[in-house]
Amino acid sequence: MSGKISLIPTPIGNLEDITFRAVRYLQEADIIFCEDTRVSGKLLQHYQVSKPLKSLHAYNEHADISKIIEQCTQQNLHICYISDAGTPGISDPGYLLAKAAIEHNILLECLPGACAFVPALVISGLPIHEFKFMGFLPPKKGRKAKLELIAQEKCICILYESPHKINTLLKEISEICGPQTQISLSRELSKLFEETFRGAVQEIIEVIGERKLKGEMVVCINPNSKHDSK
Ligand code: SAM
Repeated sequence: MSGKISLIPTPIGNLEDITFRAVRYLQEADIIFCEDTRVSGKLLQHYQVSKPLKSLHAYNEHADISKIIEQCTQQNLHICYISDAGTPGISDPGYLLAKAAIEHNILLECLPGACAFVPALVISGLPIHEFKFMGFLPPKKGRKAKLELIAQEKCICILYESPHKINTLLKEISEICGPQTQISLSRELSKLFEETFRGAVQEIIEVIGERKLKGEMVVCINPNSKHDSK
């Protein structure tokens, strides 16, 4: 076995949310690959990491990964991969690189660290002993079918959503899962304007009203809480 690939979580907002170990790994890496060199360049500068930084383009991920694997094994390199925010592979690139590392018998690890859905789930107030992370819903085709599946789930379902689609998502949850479905909506986690709404989806729609919510969002849904909805 030669070479090593480490997937490194980076902050989801607050720059203090990176581990000592993550910073050390980045400082010691032979090469750091990332989603966007402009985003990661600023981050690495903040932690005084000056290592070769290269992009691993999602649109060309397969071709790029073969080259990374070749370089890693032939030169016995320690390669780190960071996504724009949070844990690589969680609604972000990282899966293909991890899979390729396993197939090529390269030592693989993912450091524990920031991930948006974990704090959102923990502060949701919903029964979190069993949950299903579902990432982003498909934008159009298959979206309704996925929500219908969520309506039948017995555990908490977690979705990621962008601010411009959050109002649509809340309406869809109300229509498909029922207006009394208990949810929690967390935005801007770890940032200055962090905010969480908890309660029946219909109530939250009313509380938000005409407000245009900004920032990144996580929605936790308890499909088991419809009561006498619909
Ligand atoms: N890899 C990341 C992780 O570990 O959570 C997720 C990346 S995904 C492209 C970006 C989505 O994560 C956002 O659209 C939002 O749903 C969620 N997210 C990221 N940062 C967040 C934050 N600070 N507050 C709330 N949600 C956040």
